[in-house]
Order: sequence, then C-alpha cells, then structure tokens
Amino acid sequence: MSLKGNVALVTGGSRGIGRAVCLELARRGAAVAVNYAGNSAAAEETVELCRAMGVEAEAFQADVSDPAACDALAAAVKERFGRLDILVNNAGISRDGLLMTAKEEDFTKTLDTNLKGAYFCTRAAAKIMLRQKYGRIICLSSIVGLRGNPGQTAYAASKAGVLGLVKAAAKELAGRDITVNAVAPGYIETDMTAALPEKAREAMLSTIPKGRPGAPEEVARAVAFFAGPECAYITGQVLCVDGGMAV
Ligand code: NAP
Repeated sequence: MSLKGNVALVTGGSRGIGRAVCLELARRGAAVAVNYAGNSAAAEETVELCRAMGVEAEAFQADVSDPAACDALAAAVKERFGRLDILVNNAGISRDGLLMTAKEEDFTKTLDTNLKGAYFCTRAAAKIMLRQKYGRIICLSSIVGLRGNPGQTAYAASKAGVLGLVKAAAKELAGRDITVNAVAPGYIETDMTAALPEKAREAMLSTIPKGRPGAPEEVARAVAFFAGPECAYITGQVLCVDGGMAV
C-alpha cells in the first residue's frame, strides 16, 4: 500500500518500535516527522534512515505529557509539511512495581506519558485532520492493557485507557474519514524490554506460543496496515501483534 503524498507524525520515533514505524511508513513513501523526548542523536539517525529511502523527514522534540508541547508539535509538523495525515501515538514508558509498593509518582508519570500523551496528541492532530476531512490515527496499546500483568498496574491501566480513548475517538471522528485504531504488541525486543529483569523476560517468553519475542518491524507492518487510505472502513479496532500470547 503506497503512502506517497501522506505526512506522518510518529511520537517516540527515535528508537525501538517508533523507529521501525517511521522506516516502514517512509518505505511506503510517506514524509515522516520523528518526535522524540530527549534522545536527539537517535532521532536524527531515524531521520537519516528515512531520508535514505527518498522521503522528507525531520526530527521534532516534544514531551507528549505536556499538552502545550503537543499542540505546538502538531502545528510545527503542519507548518513544515503542509498537512498531517497519519498520527502514530507510540511514545511510552514503563515504571513497573508491585501494587503495594510502587510509588504514586510512577503511576502518575506513566499515565501522563502513555495515556494523556496519546490524548493530547490525538486532540492536536484531530484539529488539523478534521479540517482536512481525512486522517489515520494509530495508538500503541499493549496486550498488558487487555489482560493485565503483575507488577504493571500503572502500565496496564495506561494501556487499557488507550483502548477506551481509541474507541471513543473512533466514534467521534468517523464522519470525517478519520479512523482511530490500536495495535497491541506482546513482547517485542526493544530498549523497554531489555530493561526487564531476566526472570521476567523468561516468564514472558514461556507464554508466547510462537516461542520467540517479536521484532519492532513486525509491529510496524501492523501499524502501516491501518495508516493508508485503503483502511477507511476499519475503525475503533485493536490488532494484537504478540505471537499468540493473548489468544
Ligand atoms: P522504547 O524502546 O523504550 O522507546 C520509547 C520511545 O518513546 C523513545 O523514542 C522515547 O524518546 C519516546 N518517549 C518516551 N517518553 C516520551 C515523552 N514523554 N515524550 C515523547 N517521547 C517519549 O519503547 P518501545 O519498546 O519501542 O515501545 C514503543 C511503544 O510500544 C510504547 O508505547 C510501549 O508501551 C509499546 N509497547 C511496547 C512493547 C514491547 O514489548 N517493547 C509491548 C507492548 C507495547 P527518546 O528516545 O527521546 O527517549
């Protein structure tokens, strides 16, 4: 599916799944705005990899937990590229800890980044997309948001919240050819999962019917499925990319 002429904004595009999404959208011909929080070197690397595929790309620093920064980000992308067709709400963090001992500030930070970040960016992008009467919004949830996971109450709550956001926004925006869908990865090898303790990694791996972790590129292809003009009649849906974990 070609995305020539489309402009995509990928939050957290500097590393991991976000970078793979940037490259997949670029490979299909979209111009790519690569958002990052603090890692400008990694973001510039993503930009160079996109440009090497012959598309326009540029890095944009913004903390998605800051609503004013999200408004400014969407406006800057529109200013630079002239439109905004695809938003991928990918930026995310995990601050894990058991219910009884985890810090409230970690809960708040996780919700602020993963859930409110997706809300702020969706709202900012929708302002532009509503005027265009076209848009594709894809949010990264997680199978943990569907099924829960011990030690991840904050993360699970944030990712379950994203699913509610997706479904409500899908209904609100459908009339203007704006679709909103979610991709729910299982266990994907990135910096985020590299930070897990060995025991937790082994426990996760043992629950994957495919018997291996996923690659960021495998998630990126699912995101790209929702990102094109052909995907006009699918909205409010959740696609698990998890090697069978959530079945
Ligand atoms: P990652 O490797 O840790 O990368 C996180 C990305 O998010 C980085 O680009 C980071 O930017 C950016 N980011 C973090 N906080 C931000 C903020 N406040 N504002 C803007 N950008 C911010 O993570 P990942 O594993 O690729 O995960 C990507 C998404 O998939 C997340 O939403 C995650 O919850 C979800 N997911 C991942 C897995 C998995 O197994 N890996 C499974 C299910 C769901 P900097 O580089 O500037 O720090």
